[in-house]
Amino acid sequence: MWTYRAPLRDIEFVINEWLHAQAEWETIPNFAELDQDTVEQIVTSAGQFAAEVVAPINSPGDIEGCHYDNGKVTTPKHYRETYQAYVEAGWPALACETEFGGQGLPQLLNCALYEMLVAACHAWAMYPGLAHGAYECIRTHGTDSLKAQYLPKLVNGEWLATMCLTEAHAGTDLGLLRTRAEPDDAASGRYRISGTKIFISGGEHDLTDNIVHLVLARLPGAPAGSKGISLFLVPKLLLDGQANAVRCDGIEKKMGIKGSATCVLTFAQASGWIIGEPNRGLAAMFVMMNAARLHVGLQGLSHAEAAYQNALHYALERKQMRVPTSTDKQGATADLIVKHPPMRRILLQLRAFVQGQRALAYWIAHLLDCAEHHSDAAQRQASMQLVSLLTPMAKGFFTDNGFVLSSAALQVFGGHGYVHENAIEQTVRDSRIAMLYEGTNEIQAIDLVARKIIGDRGAAFDQLLKLIAVEVQACNAVSACATFGQQLQATSSAVSTVVAMILRETPTDRELPYRIADDFMRAFGLLMLAFAWARTARIAQARAEADDFYKDKLVTAHFCFDFVLPELHYRLELVNVAWQGVPQIEVRR
Ligand SMILES: Cc1cc2nc3c(=O)[nH]c(=O)nc-3n(C[C@H](O)[C@H](O)[C@H](O)COP(=O)(O)OP(=O)(O)OC[C@H]3O[C@@H](n4cnc5c(N)ncnc54)[C@H](O)[C@@H]3O)c2cc1C
Repeated sequence: MWTYRAPLRDIEFVINEWLHAQAEWETIPNFAELDQDTVEQIVTSAGQFAAEVVAPINSPGDIEGCHYDNGKVTTPKHYRETYQAYVEAGWPALACETEFGGQGLPQLLNCALYEMLVAACHAWAMYPGLAHGAYECIRTHGTDSLKAQYLPKLVNGEWLATMCLTEAHAGTDLGLLRTRAEPDDAASGRYRISGTKIFISGGEHDLTDNIVHLVLARLPGAPAGSKGISLFLVPKLLLDGQANAVRCDGIEKKMGIKGSATCVLTFAQASGWIIGEPNRGLAAMFVMMNAARLHVGLQGLSHAEAAYQNALHYALERKQMRVPTSTDKQGATADLIVKHPPMRRILLQLRAFVQGQRALAYWIAHLLDCAEHHSDAAQRQASMQLVSLLTPMAKGFFTDNGFVLSSAALQVFGGHGYVHENAIEQTVRDSRIAMLYEGTNEIQAIDLVARKIIGDRGAAFDQLLKLIAVEVQACNAVSACATFGQQLQATSSAVSTVVAMILRETPTDRELPYRIADDFMRAFGLLMLAFAWARTARIAQARAEADDFYKDKLVTAHFCFDFVLPELHYRLELVNVAWQGVPQIEVRR
């Protein structure tokens, strides 16, 4: 039986001890009043909501899926009540500006909320998850009247939203999209939008009456490619309550997140209003890209957390075979699964990735808050530079791991993991999508190497190296942690040597970044995991004698450096191999 318990102790460890978020908040006027008790209260209530209200709908919703009937979509049983409870508790407003009815709290807390909601039920969490991105986009680029008309209802949860980018022939390459927007009524700024979008999450459903679609389309005479794309707000219902010309023509049958309606939407001269400048639609959407990609990265973390909890629980109950070292020859005829060495390795691997990635994800969310709200302009800029560098890694590396680790967790259940009853097979299926949407993981890897490292000639990477060097020094200053400091130093030197080579060689080999990107992103992710665990070990070592929580942290830190991080050297070796070239596949038909 699948269950979810919010990992509150670890979340609080990351916020209070790993990040020392409170100390930073005290220097940021927007958050200066936020105290540790309030933060604990918010995180605890979010965990309770996720575990008690959302988790119970996960498995039944997967079996039932969504229903389509003549343009109408019905979500699985209890999705609607769960959403109403979510709205009544005020969760949609958590990290929105007070000006629009929000609570004005940090993204960091939204990140904790979202991690727990997705771990409880990814399919359901898709609906509220999309609304925040739309809110950010309208808030930053919408006109004052659009903001006044739409933001309060997105913030209070009365309406939900979508991102309508993909068309049948335009997925990764949005420059190919064909949806048209024609100016209609200059006085009201209205355009007429026509075209068909596919794969639109939450494109139609029964959770809210109105849905605010953000649609990419081309204006007449727009330049070809991605430089000719504009962004429009197209509501399902117009402000006078009339239906807009938006129709759901069907929902996709898919591998996972079956309770999330993925829709074909047809816009037939629908009324829409431009957001941002004409032909600058992609730039307007990029405003929320870092936060949106971090949220998808969190999905990888959530799946790995849920997989870890359930696999551990199972391994602590089921007995099979004797372990070779068993001393109790008279008693039970079999030992717990958790006692067998290969199963211990899987579970420790899950723990190392989950807890290390949590520290990294929350750090990025905290940097997003600093980038927006810090009173010191230099801090804002430095934070943004790190966010830009780390975000593609969080999206790509965490979601690759979410799928691989869920599959590893399934192994702990043996054949019982392959049947629905234990629901780990659902976690494997649900986790797979996060590697594909919000920019496939190949695109994240290319973004990391080509734009975030080569694009600024390694400046952001150098800033990161300085932070890593500070951690190395701090570890080396504590004798029990010197081994972590030395290994972190060796790891960061190995990666920075490759970065220097990339910067030197790309001008003469334009394909190079694209050939090495996937392995490089993996190596970079592992470097960041080493950073997360070195700092964790340094904090934990002083308290490990007195508290098992910290003792477990030290065990996991050692495991991570000994068993997980050797993959980094293998990945750098593959970077070297791909450096020489990847064979072409000849077209022979
Ligand atoms: C369940 C689900 C929900 C979705 N929700 C939404 C949504 O809400 N809104 C929305 O607009 N879209 C949504 N999508 C669409 C999703 O974002 C796209 O599927 C994704 O962008 C990839 O596009 P594609 O499927 O056309 O693949 P393609 O672009 O055809 O890519 C095929 C493969 O080629 C690789 N590839 C392509 N170009 C390159 C390159 N330059 N270098 C290296 N590799 C490359 C890709 O990485 C991929 O592996 C959703 C999709 C699904 C399945």
